[in-house]
Amino acid sequence: MSAPVDLVFAAPRRGKPPRHLADLSSDERREALVALGEPAYRARQLSTHYFGRYLDDTAEMTDLPQASRDRIGDGLFPPLLTPVRTLTADAGATVKTVWRLFDGALVESVLMRYPGRVTMCVSSQAGCGMACPFCATGQAGLTRNLSAAEIVGQVVAGSRLLASGEVAGGPGRISNVVFMGMGEPLANYRTVISAVRRLTDPVPDGLGMSQRGVTVSTVGLVPRIRQLTEEGLSVTLALSLHAPDDELRDELVPVNTRWKVAEVLDAAWAYAEQTKRRVSIEYALIRDINDQAWRADLLGEKLAGHLVHVNLIPLNPTPGSKWTASRPEDEREFVRRLEAHGVPVTVRDTRGQEIDGACGQLAAKEA
Ligand code: SAH
Repeated sequence: MSAPVDLVFAAPRRGKPPRHLADLSSDERREALVALGEPAYRARQLSTHYFGRYLDDTAEMTDLPQASRDRIGDGLFPPLLTPVRTLTADAGATVKTVWRLFDGALVESVLMRYPGRVTMCVSSQAGCGMACPFCATGQAGLTRNLSAAEIVGQVVAGSRLLASGEVAGGPGRISNVVFMGMGEPLANYRTVISAVRRLTDPVPDGLGMSQRGVTVSTVGLVPRIRQLTEEGLSVTLALSLHAPDDELRDELVPVNTRWKVAEVLDAAWAYAEQTKRRVSIEYALIRDINDQAWRADLLGEKLAGHLVHVNLIPLNPTPGSKWTASRPEDEREFVRRLEAHGVPVTVRDTRGQEIDGACGQLAAKEA
């Protein structure tokens, strides 16, 4: 018998980040305020400040009695994310931030503005335990799970920056959140679900984003995909497939040795069936590794007829990597063959390459 998934992928034991308002449901916020000797109705006041105005400094919350500000600040707004470095690219439309957490761990988030939408890419863990050999985060292993407030805080920080008008294109709002920063979100399952609820609960309980604007990306932890299917959320599921055959996927996405391509695709189709949402298949094109025409055909055969979309990502080589992005003609042929199978496909634009946009590269350098 194999060990349950939670034991195999459990994060190392470490100090937990201090509790923050954004870790709590609205009922828990009321209880926490009463425990701090405050009236329960302040929960709504504070939530409006945080989720509606992106304030987290109680000194700026002028409707709070002076005497309560420090107590509430200490009890519910501990500093969780300290910016270490901020880099911009794409004429200011891409902003990448490296954050230091309370225990010194580093994570990254990236804000990307496109015509008509703004996407925030967030981290769900410090490091990652999935060990995909082409991914910068995978090389260093897992440090720890983030808390819900550490995840939500990345989005609140991005929202604040956008609202301030400091991002090229003028003031705006985040429309999409993708769990494609550091970490395997489904290995931090409960916390990621509560973060998704904070992001999508209506203001003032949460940030009021659309569930359909949230994408959870996974290497393919099958039991967790099945659990997500039952969660009653309409988030988009992205599956990092990267190879249509077990032989290669065992190498590129080591968790495949546990849950095979057929199993993970079955779980993805069940998700699509339940939610009526198109599953996004992520496929990093790696020159002469997974970009052969026959693999495009095999992928096309396995996906054809399903509610699916393929997102091809030109590999962003990590430092010292022996792998690189596919040749343009191979990429074109890959697209053509998928389309010939009737599978919708797009090639992801590569934002922020000059600032080490790929997953985990910047934090790795900083460390
Ligand atoms: N652990 C989750 C989410 C984080 S990674 C997952 O694997 O889905 C987000 C996406 O970036 C994944 O599809 C991942 O495979 C891809 N990725 C990681 N490193 C990359 C690189 N160097 N070049 C291109 N894509 C990469």
